[in-house]
Amino acid sequence: MTATPARHDPDVLVIGAGVVGLFCAWFLRAAGHTVTVVDRGEVGDPAACSAGNTGFVGTQGAAPLAEPGVPAKGLRWLFDPESPFHVRPRPDLGLLAWLWHFRRYCTERHARAGFEVLLALKQRSLAILREICAGDLADTLTARGMVLACKTEQGYAQARRGIPAAVERGVPLRELDHAELARLEPGVEFAIAGALLNEEGAALRIPAFLVGFARALRERGVEIITGAEVRGFEVTGRRVRAVRTSRGDLRPAEVVIAAGVWSLACARTLGVGLMLQPAKGYTVTVAAGPGTPTRPLLLSEGKVAVMPLGDRVRVGGTLELSGLDTSVSPRRVDGILRTVRSYLPGLDTDRRLHVWSGLRPCTPDSLPLIGRAGTYRNVSVATGHGHIGMGLAPAGGQLIAQLIGGVPPDLPLEAFALDRFGRTR
Ligand SMILES: Cc1cc2nc3c(=O)[nH]c(=O)nc-3n(C[C@H](O)[C@H](O)[C@H](O)COP(=O)(O)OP(=O)(O)OC[C@H]3O[C@@H](n4cnc5c(N)ncnc54)[C@H](O)[C@@H]3O)c2cc1C
Repeated sequence: MTATPARHDPDVLVIGAGVVGLFCAWFLRAAGHTVTVVDRGEVGDPAACSAGNTGFVGTQGAAPLAEPGVPAKGLRWLFDPESPFHVRPRPDLGLLAWLWHFRRYCTERHARAGFEVLLALKQRSLAILREICAGDLADTLTARGMVLACKTEQGYAQARRGIPAAVERGVPLRELDHAELARLEPGVEFAIAGALLNEEGAALRIPAFLVGFARALRERGVEIITGAEVRGFEVTGRRVRAVRTSRGDLRPAEVVIAAGVWSLACARTLGVGLMLQPAKGYTVTVAAGPGTPTRPLLLSEGKVAVMPLGDRVRVGGTLELSGLDTSVSPRRVDGILRTVRSYLPGLDTDRRLHVWSGLRPCTPDSLPLIGRAGTYRNVSVATGHGHIGMGLAPAGGQLIAQLIGGVPPDLPLEAFALDRFGRTR
């Protein structure tokens, strides 16, 4: 291949400039490595899942998607065109294997174990984000708490049952009575049974955070090459010698595959299977008006996130296992907006400014895939951060740097091992 020579070959090449790749680069650079990030698009490119999401970070929402009761609900939702969860049936062995494992993880025991690990990652990540966003990026992190709004008495009772476990683990989650909610969000009309407040709730402004973070990385010497698609690898024995990109070859000592849902194809080129499925979701950005909340809200039963962004408000939801298709379903978008109005009847959702779809890289147990790729000595994978990737990526990036640097990891890496689902095609 004709090579536009790289300026110099880095110690570590990170494939993917989404939030996960950028945090890997941050910690690898901090550990003293020379680092290059390659991405086929631009930083903040709408094709990346990191570029249009609702940006919730912090300690809320650490529950895995696989929970007891989900399979039964999933079957009901399957036939509802506006439901928050959908599987497009297709003859795909990868999807079938994923669903089989997902079903296996829908137990109380797995859900509790998953919550513990995800919460630890989220707590670590929030501490990292606070540090990084203390300076120039201060405008991109809001930390005014997050309200969990429950439509039904049953949903509210279930949410309250989760308080002791959260508080025990240091999460400042508590009930909010109607008067306090009205004080916190004056002017917002709620049609709900009750609400909880997580005082640690925080959110990133997307894509401003990504763009600013990439700038900070460049200032620290990380090279970010955009418009460079990785198309293959040159392999000798158990080592990758070169990474072939549309802008030339690079010969790093170490490679990190952090290419979101496309990590599957990237790893497959090396003969490594990943238990990963793209899970499509949408965000709709509407003009803010009277009735817009001032802090992030999670609409519990509807599985919709509401993120105020100054003169706009972004709402996001749905999880569709429909492969790499990013087309927008108007019915599901309507479903999200209808859910929002059912909780917040005073919010005008008619002035739509932007509709976006993104593909979450999801594993059956909602835990990321962080570890060495197969038997390769110099290839690692960092993906599978799923529905909460913005909130997990900082700690995930730190783990990758520890793995590559041979430093004892902050959290046991077994939970994230690529082969925990057995042999993956
Ligand atoms: C509707 C919606 C709402 C969400 N809300 C939240 C939220 O509130 N909080 C939260 O924590 N998470 C949220 N998420 C999840 C979060 O967005 C993802 O977990 C996260 O963005 C995944 O980041 P990533 O870096 O792994 O992947 P991506 O952001 O997709 O980045 C992968 C990058 O790899 C590049 N790439 C791929 N293939 C190649 C190749 N061959 N060569 C070069 N480059 C390549 C792509 O161009 C892309 O830039 C949401 C997701 C959706 C869809």
